[in-house]
Order: sequence, then structure tokens, then C-alpha cells
Amino acid sequence: MKVAVNGYGTIGKRVADAVIMQNDLQLSGVSKATPDYEAIMLNKAGINLYVPEDNLKRFEDRGISVKGTISEMVNSSDIIVDATPGGYGPKYKELYQSAGKPAIFQGGEDANLTDLSFSALCNYEQASGKRYLRVVSCNTTAILRTICSLRSFGIKSVQVDIIRRAADPREIKKGPINSITLDPVKSPSHHADDVKSVMPDLKIVTRAAIVPTTLMHLHQMTVRLDKKVLKGEVINALLDTPRIVLLSSRSGVQSTAEIMEIARDLGRKRADLPEVAVFEESINTEDCTVLLSYAVHQESIVVPENIDAIRAVHGKATKNDSIKMTDDAMGIKRGYLV
Ligand code: NAD
Repeated sequence: MKVAVNGYGTIGKRVADAVIMQNDLQLSGVSKATPDYEAIMLNKAGINLYVPEDNLKRFEDRGISVKGTISEMVNSSDIIVDATPGGYGPKYKELYQSAGKPAIFQGGEDANLTDLSFSALCNYEQASGKRYLRVVSCNTTAILRTICSLRSFGIKSVQVDIIRRAADPREIKKGPINSITLDPVKSPSHHADDVKSVMPDLKIVTRAAIVPTTLMHLHQMTVRLDKKVLKGEVINALLDTPRIVLLSSRSGVQSTAEIMEIARDLGRKRADLPEVAVFEESINTEDCTVLLSYAVHQESIVVPENIDAIRAVHGKATKNDSIKMTDDAMGIKRGYLV
């Protein structure tokens, strides 16, 4: 299947690399709006680069080779992963629809843009027969993975306190640089509704604050279950779930900085960590209540979900087969991180 990535930014470049790694997918090309260092690197890597028609001259003026326009990229592909900045989705959906191509959108778009908000672990099967999916945001993907790993215990309600990174590492114009900012001040934050776009019946409240860091988000989650659960049972459930890793008490890890150092030490490309990283020592069970804390690498967590979303729309792989193919190809772990 020929996959195009529209929007080669933080998410798009990682999805493009992940497509190249899959045996059953082929990258037909990527698009960018700005003729900068990424475009030069794409030329050097021999990856087909497409640009908005109005921007063709800007790329030519900088001596950057362009294969064609975004419309041409869409027409020469079987499916599009749209990773343009949030809000561009409606405009591009019209283009994909008129070309008769299915597409995967990102969490920055409204849930009602697509036929289904998607989480590979929670609702892969519901994507069958759908043309337009939305991979939910980084925070929502992490919440859903964690909740779905505990689903067999029967979930009564969930509360998540989300400590958000201020910006991605390469973003030079975002803050705050010296503040803890409630974003939003009101509770619940929009994340609860986003989780409900995948699990409508779940009782969940979320609150969020932004802190001056670029590395990862941190979530502190409280889950109330239908029955009593032991700490060991929760640990086993998490160890058994794809795309969740545990930071053991032996490892001494207590921060997002150390987790990113591990990703670098493991030789992960771009120091990515698409797994939800749960601090084992944070897991606490009290009767029917579970407390846990985990870190979320916002730049990469949604990438495997995008690959599964492509297969889910195509209908050629089961949930477990797709997750295994994606994770094997990308070297994504489960169990203990180290
Ligand atoms: P980004 O700004 O890093 O990248 C966007 C890319 O789109 C850039 O390459 C830009 O050149 C290109 N672009 C801009 N205008 C375009 C146009 N008109 N046509 C084609 N391409 C255009 O954005 P991002 O952080 O990768 O976010 C993309 C989507 O992924 C958003 O919906 C966002 O909410 C979502 N998302 C982001 C993160 C994150 O932490 N960065 C995490 C999960 C989901």
C-alpha cells in the first residue's frame, strides 16, 4: 500500500520513517510547506517531496527538488496520513475525498472531522469499513493505552492529572519559560472528552497544567475498579500490554530526563520512546483503587497508532497482527524498559 504523509513536522517525519520500516507499506512521498533544512535532508535521502502549489517557486529558488504538488501526491497514493498543523484537516479532507482516498488525521483536529477517533488497543476493530480516522492526541493515546490494559478488572471511573510539556524541543517560540500554567484553568480539561471520543461510556475527569520542559508529559492517574485488585495483578497487566514499559524500582529512574537518557542509551532514533513509561514504584493499590504515574513522549507516542490506523482502514490485518508487525518493525518494547 502506497502511503503519503501530508505535513512533514514532528509527527509526520516519524510516521514517514515508521512507514518505511514496515514490510507491507511503501512511502510514496511527503509534503512540506517551508523550504528549510528538512527539505534539503529529504532531497539527500531521496524521498519524494511534494509542496503546496503556491509554494513551488520558494522551493525552486532555494534549489530544492520537488516531485510535485500535494494534489499530485494524493493522487499517486493509496492512503494519506495527514500530519499538518491542527485545524488544516477540514480543508485537506475535501482534497482526499475528491480524489477518493482514505486518510488518517491527528489529534489536533476535531473528533467530528472523521468517522472514528482511534486507539489501536481500545477500538481497532471499529475502524473496519471506515474511510477517515483520527488518531487521538499524545495525552489521550497514553490514557487510553493505560486504561485498556486495566479494562479486565472492570473500570468504574478514572481521574488523571496531566503535567504537560510546554513545547516540543525544536519549537523556539512557545512557552511558558518560567511559570506553571493551568491550561485550561477549568476542570475537566478537554482530554476527558477526547478519551470519551473513543470510550463514550467511561467516567473520566482530567486536569492539566503546563510546565517549562520540552521532554515529556507526566500523568498521575487514579483508577477506581469494580473489584479489589492487588498491586502484583496491576503490574502483570501492564507488563502484558504492548507499548507499555515499566521503570523498575531497581532502575532508580524518577524523572523524564532519565527516561530520555535511556532512550538515547538504547540508540533509539531521535531518542524516541513511543511506549508509555510507567514508574513501577508509583503503583499503589488500596481496595478497589489504583494509583500510578507514567511519562509520555509526546513526539513519538502516536506514531505506532498511525501505522495501525492505516492497516485498520485497509482491513487486511487483525488488531494483534498489526500491533505485532508495527512494534517488531519499530523495535517497540513491552515489559521492563531496562
Ligand atoms: P508540526 O508543526 O511539527 O508539523 C506540521 C508540518 O506541516 C510542517 O512540516 C509544516 O511544514 C507542514 N505544513 C504546514 N502547513 C502546511 C500545508 N498547508 N500543507 C501541507 N503541509 C503543511 O506539527 P506536529 O506537532 O507534527 O503536529 C501535527 C498534528 O499532530 C497536529 O494535529 C497535532 O495536534 C498532532 N500531534 C502533535 C503532537 C506533538 O507533540 N507535536 C503529539 C500528538 C499529536
